[in-house]
Amino acid sequence: MTLHLGKYIIGMVALFLCASCSVTGEPVSEAVSEPRPASRTLVIAHRGASGYLPEHTLAAKAMAYAQGADYIEQDLVMTKDDRLVVLHDHHLDTVTNVAQLFPDRGRDDGRYYVVDFTLDEIRRLSVSERFETQNGGQTAVFPDRFPLWKSSFRVNTFAEEIELIQGLNQSTGRSVGIYPEIKSPAFHLDEGKDISSATLAVLKRYGYAEITDPVFLQCFDAAELQRIDVELMPQMEMHVPLVQLMDTSRQYDWMLRADGMQRVAAYADGIGPSVRLLIAPESVAEDIKFTALVGNAHAAGLVVHPFTFRRERDQMPPFSKDYNDFLRLFIDEAGVDGVFTDFPDLTADFLESDR
Ligand code: CA
Repeated sequence: MTLHLGKYIIGMVALFLCASCSVTGEPVSEAVSEPRPASRTLVIAHRGASGYLPEHTLAAKAMAYAQGADYIEQDLVMTKDDRLVVLHDHHLDTVTNVAQLFPDRGRDDGRYYVVDFTLDEIRRLSVSERFETQNGGQTAVFPDRFPLWKSSFRVNTFAEEIELIQGLNQSTGRSVGIYPEIKSPAFHLDEGKDISSATLAVLKRYGYAEITDPVFLQCFDAAELQRIDVELMPQMEMHVPLVQLMDTSRQYDWMLRADGMQRVAAYADGIGPSVRLLIAPESVAEDIKFTALVGNAHAAGLVVHPFTFRRERDQMPPFSKDYNDFLRLFIDEAGVDGVFTDFPDLTADFLESDR
């Protein structure tokens, strides 16, 4: 039975790594890459305390704040009337009742685009825990989380969310940061919208302008981050820390090469990689090896904030026994500087525990 289980776990490791096949052949370091910086590992609330309340609602943000998050994430998309709203997708149909309220406003692909709606229209929508629609029926993406369509939640603007966090900073005396992500800048530009300039303008208006301010600005699009670094921020007399997001798709292969992190460091201050990019392909359940990515990033002066840390069994690597084991591997062994998590409370508890 043990043998069977062992084979099963090795198979599952292979399955977990399959999506990271692009890292094959890249240099691999022995277990630990770089010692962890002395500063505390950051708890970054991924879309808020999204393990407990519908993602990106102000309720989820307030809960993340109370649970001890150091930074709270905002995914940003733009409305028809050029307002920044906090939503993970540039579609509205996976977390709102847009299809019921505005049945004629979908595009030919059946999707409802944020850029086709004004802020006033979007404010009329109800927000739910994330769902999938199949054959006319809705299924929760995370069945054990907050139930679909219960209570009352709305889409909020970037400015409203900053005011919530800054207001809590005043009333608690803490200094929790913001972690905005510019979503799909090329799509927005095709729609005639410069989402990056709009994001920087809101940041500056609310006092986030210097490298030491409590903000990280993240994006998957390397060319757009370079434009922000060399063009937009100098024009606006700003210099906030930039984070290059990375997933397992081929477009990030160059960042995994030996000089990749040095090249990223020319325009960014950190990386936000998928956790899959940190595990070496030859890993087996009882002997997990890391890729060179964390060491290369630290050597280039970049902080490393991987995503996404969730406690559900099917959301963790198969070789992690439980959520704390998942955190231990990446925080204590891989030596990352912060983690994007749906569960800020569990993550803060882990960091404060003796281990
Ligand atoms: Ca994000």
